[in-house]
Amino acid sequence: MTESAERLSEVVQQPVNLLGLDRDALQAYFVSIGEKPFRASQLLQWMHQRNVIDFDHMTNLSKALRSKLRETTEIRMPEVVDEQISRDGTRKWLLQLSCGNRIESVFIPEQERNTLCVSSQAGCALNCSFCSTARQGYNRNLDSAEIISQLWLAEQLIGEQQRISNVVLMGMGEPLLNYDNVVKAMNLMRDDFSFGLSKRRVTLSTAGVVPGIDRLADDCDVALAVSLHASTNQTRDELVPINRKYPIQQLLDACIRYIGDHKRRKVTFEYVMLDGVNDSIEDARRLARLLQSVPSKVNLIPFNPFPGAPYRCSSRQAIERFQDVLMHKGIVTITRKTRGEDIDAACGQLVGDVNDRTSRSRKMLKHV
Ligand code: SAH
Repeated sequence: MTESAERLSEVVQQPVNLLGLDRDALQAYFVSIGEKPFRASQLLQWMHQRNVIDFDHMTNLSKALRSKLRETTEIRMPEVVDEQISRDGTRKWLLQLSCGNRIESVFIPEQERNTLCVSSQAGCALNCSFCSTARQGYNRNLDSAEIISQLWLAEQLIGEQQRISNVVLMGMGEPLLNYDNVVKAMNLMRDDFSFGLSKRRVTLSTAGVVPGIDRLADDCDVALAVSLHASTNQTRDELVPINRKYPIQQLLDACIRYIGDHKRRKVTFEYVMLDGVNDSIEDARRLARLLQSVPSKVNLIPFNPFPGAPYRCSSRQAIERFQDVLMHKGIVTITRKTRGEDIDAACGQLVGDVNDRTSRSRKMLKHV
């Protein structure tokens, strides 16, 4: 037996959760139990397109196969324990994970698209000073089933009249520090036999994990967003501490490599507007200079406050002025509308309920 087949058979001893397997993994699984690889597409369609998770209803699988799946596998997902609905229609769900942690996902309906904002970790280890998820500490990576379940559950909850058209990995956690599970889940988002979203409709947002950006360029074609938030290393070191490891120029170089020779690829830079910290005209000019050689657009995000936050949001005039400077330099810049603020569902307000294991997060960061 090869090493990977051995590992697979070990996993198969415990009930394997089929929900988190992408096509390659599912095919390998079916082959390992003596079935044809095309069973993978059939199962993906049942689970992710028809939302059927009871093996008995999967009528194009033989009875023998169905009972084998029932005995040796499972289709398991977190439980939705709370829902909040904002005045603007944004919906936030609190999901209970098996380990006691709770995470959040947010559904943002708009005229021309319906976006689901998905979490990738229980908590976050990166400690950005303006983000309330950071205050919760870090517990663990979500597995691929827990990530894709957020789409599955949201589709159930929003009903048949609506569909998720876009997914952003902008919920709790740093997706590139949970690389393998996030890529598996994004493969499922993109696969025509499951959610079938196009590459421009799945966006991964990172605080700047440079090696992860380089791996992603080879592994999974999705839109990349980078949380830049500052125009100097001094300020970025304070706001996004991972900058001390991967300073701005290294990060921008990785973005340029990510774009490569894909003519239509652009990186979206997110920039939170903090009063008196990063919102001066000088900052805007410096930012424009930095982005000169990166095909990009900029999303300005008005700071969403939370209790005890050491910042205030920039004034509307300061945001407009900042945007004008960038636009004059030819950089497409939009100011993101804040959604779901009344239910704490806006950027950086997701907290869930995380059992912090700070020593774990320190250990994980050593390997970044
Ligand atoms: N860790 C990833 C994914 C989180 S995405 C990342 O950093 O990109 C969430 C986005 O909201 C990021 O751009 C983040 O910097 C931003 N954000 C966090 N806290 C915020 C706050 N209080 N107000 C506005 N934006 C915030």
